Amino acid sequence: MSTENNSEHLFKNSVKILSDLISFKTISGEDNNSLIDYCDNILKKLGASSFRTFDDEKKRVNLFATIKAKNLSEKKPIILSGHTDVVPVSKGWTTDPFEATIKDNKLYGRGSCDMKGFIACALAFAPIYSKSNLDRDIHFSFTFDEETACQGAPILIEELKKRNIKDGICIVGEPTNMKIIDAHKGCYEYTTHFKGLAGHSSAPHKGVSAVEYASRYVGKLIELREKLKERSPKDSIFDPPHSTLSIGGIFGGIAHNVIADKCHVNWETRPVVKEDAVFLNSELDKYANEILLPEMKKVYPQSSIEKNIIGEIVGFDREHKSDACELISSLTGDNSRQVVSFGTEAGLFQEIGISTVVCGPWIN
Ligand SMILES: [Zn+2]
Repeated sequence: MSTENNSEHLFKNSVKILSDLISFKTISGEDNNSLIDYCDNILKKLGASSFRTFDDEKKRVNLFATIKAKNLSEKKPIILSGHTDVVPVSKGWTTDPFEATIKDNKLYGRGSCDMKGFIACALAFAPIYSKSNLDRDIHFSFTFDEETACQGAPILIEELKKRNIKDGICIVGEPTNMKIIDAHKGCYEYTTHFKGLAGHSSAPHKGVSAVEYASRYVGKLIELREKLKERSPKDSIFDPPHSTLSIGGIFGGIAHNVIADKCHVNWETRPVVKEDAVFLNSELDKYANEILLPEMKKVYPQSSIEKNIIGEIVGFDREHKSDACELISSLTGDNSRQVVSFGTEAGLFQEIGISTVVCGPWIN
């Protein structure tokens, strides 16, 4: 087969696989077993070995598969990493989101770019890996629920640590217009629930207003936000340069004249360094447990403040020398390095010592 035919075949196969992948309705939180079976089957036929990790109900699955090197060298193994979930479908689709539709040389479908496209390309290339004289292992890492604060990847990472797979190069194929991304902030999301005592507004001393305590909590968050600005690292590569904090919503209360017994606050922070998240949480928890809660309990001992972690996506830190970035540079000829404002699984791989880069398809 000529090179041209080869690349044409690769292209057609990528589109075929991508179309199949889009047809699995793997919205975050939902069952992704059949998509994982599909990917695992393709790889197994090519001689790959694999293992799976799950959520508690085994409803959602991570797959880690390996095509072994034939001539093992000093070269680090490569992990091709993609998430299998897609965000829910918004209004405005003119085609079926779960059926790949090609129009004007563009393929439309939920997740076509973010990031089933990358998974399809990795799978289409797998036969080439299995036939060639590989001098390093190639791993395929397909995770669940990345879009909802990376719920799947940490379970896989734990297993990688157990199996001593802590060295290598990881390419996270999120859409970056093929630019080399070597850093992003963390993204930590929380919901804090306040429970007080309902009562009539004419006797405020007999109730515990969850709404009022939640407001003071929000006030503390805003105060701490200013402290985060002061902590901004001098050489920060991010815009804005400091860790940010945002209140997404405050929900509570039923009427003007009723003391609200329940309220919850949705908030998130995007730390530039992990220490900022630790600082913020410890100051906040101290304020809630040592100031607010004792006051609430004085009136109503069953009062509570409960902070739930929705997700804590660790930041992805720039490294002075990165094997992963150098590998991509050698392939694309692009020596630039950029940062992005969205979170990915990159920081999780980096945390266990795997050199990681985010680089993937064009968005438009
Ligand atoms: Zn993504």
